Amino acid sequence: MKIGLEIHVQLPTRSKMFCPCPTDAGTPNSAICPTCLGMPGARPSLNRAALEMGLRLAKLFQCQVPERTWFSRKTYFYPDLAKHFQVTQYENPVGEHGLFDFRGKPIRIRRVHLEEDPGRIRRVGRPGEEMSLVDYNRSGIPLVEIVTEPDLSNPAEARQFLSDMLTEIRHTIGLTDDGEQSVRVDCNISVGEERVEVKNVTGLKNMERALKFELVRQTKMLRSKKPVLRETRRFDEERKVTLPARKKEFEEDYGYIGEPDLGVYNIRAMADALDEVETPLNRAKRLCDQYGIAEGTSRQLVNTSMDLCDLFEEMATASDPKTALFLVTDVISSYWARLSDDLDLGTRGKMIDTASRYGKGEINDIEARSILRGLIAPDDSVGTEKGEGTQALDDAIEAVLSSNPGIFDDYVKNERAANRLIGEVIGRTRGAYSSKEIVDRVKERLQRGP
Ligand SMILES: [Zn+2]
Repeated sequence: MKIGLEIHVQLPTRSKMFCPCPTDAGTPNSAICPTCLGMPGARPSLNRAALEMGLRLAKLFQCQVPERTWFSRKTYFYPDLAKHFQVTQYENPVGEHGLFDFRGKPIRIRRVHLEEDPGRIRRVGRPGEEMSLVDYNRSGIPLVEIVTEPDLSNPAEARQFLSDMLTEIRHTIGLTDDGEQSVRVDCNISVGEERVEVKNVTGLKNMERALKFELVRQTKMLRSKKPVLRETRRFDEERKVTLPARKKEFEEDYGYIGEPDLGVYNIRAMADALDEVETPLNRAKRLCDQYGIAEGTSRQLVNTSMDLCDLFEEMATASDPKTALFLVTDVISSYWARLSDDLDLGTRGKMIDTASRYGKGEINDIEARSILRGLIAPDDSVGTEKGEGTQALDDAIEAVLSSNPGIFDDYVKNERAANRLIGEVIGRTRGAYSSKEIVDRVKERLQRGP
């Protein structure tokens, strides 16, 4: 089984790709202008921030960056595209022939290119009386498309790969969401000879489901000696099945032509000038090697925040890795969600000093914990009362459970019932724990049963 992915990620720019319209408008069709609607005479100009993000990603995936790049028009008719063409890149994308080291397995990256998103179509009304509404706010929002070679070999691996890749992308261009809502993937999957494309799957979970469905479907077809057609399918999120979509067009059918309203951009020099920063996964690897901490722990640290990793490293230098890791994972990380915004240099210095004194044996673990809590949550009664690790969190969970006796049954029927409990626990603990901690703990408790 071979899987290749075409991954679309919205770039977090303030304005659209070729016009000054904002990218965060809520009311439908409130952020539109003659350029993103393709009115006659409108002249696009390229958003430099979008180009720079594209180049950062091309470098992240070790792509070759050409000397010059330009944009092309991909012509097709659909109501989400008022211009009747999408501005994208065909020849000379911002990056080609890259590589992503997926936990020791090299996954080849065919290309990285920039393009604009079309508008959004919403279908409303009862079956038989449906109508479609178009919102052009999304039209012109910058996207990066990352195309892999078919180097992935099963659905679970594809999901893990995409998750790792998103960790790196988030950090490199400053994305804030985890990709479950915003990443869209076209999956190419072949069990036998013929390749099937499942278009436009949203989020990691749906991608894995769509791939699993195709694996089973194609395997059955081949076993019963029926031909698997080369076709484009779509994923039905409600029914969790893939269905045939329109006939597969070939790239050549779109009749790409150069976009004459935009220029040719010298990107090699621009890419060379971009500073290279250590990515989360590289850092996780280095933390393992340099400080001898477990792989899972180092991944958890980088996933929480790179700033927390900085603090860990400073503490490890002032004391030793074991001491620093204990203080960071036992005390600090649970406060990190609300702490990272207002951790001033003075407080930071005192935290490092506490690590140093604890490392030298001048204070014991209880004193070190209590000093740190005093520094990072001085007015937090829950934090100071809780004494040992997660006791206050467990108490809060039990308290909420006792007033919701039916929740275990609800949870067995639908895991989303946990959200009700999580919300109440977050309210009760007033930010003393990170939401991840609360979510994990609540789920663990619900799984144990009444
Ligand atoms: Zn516009």
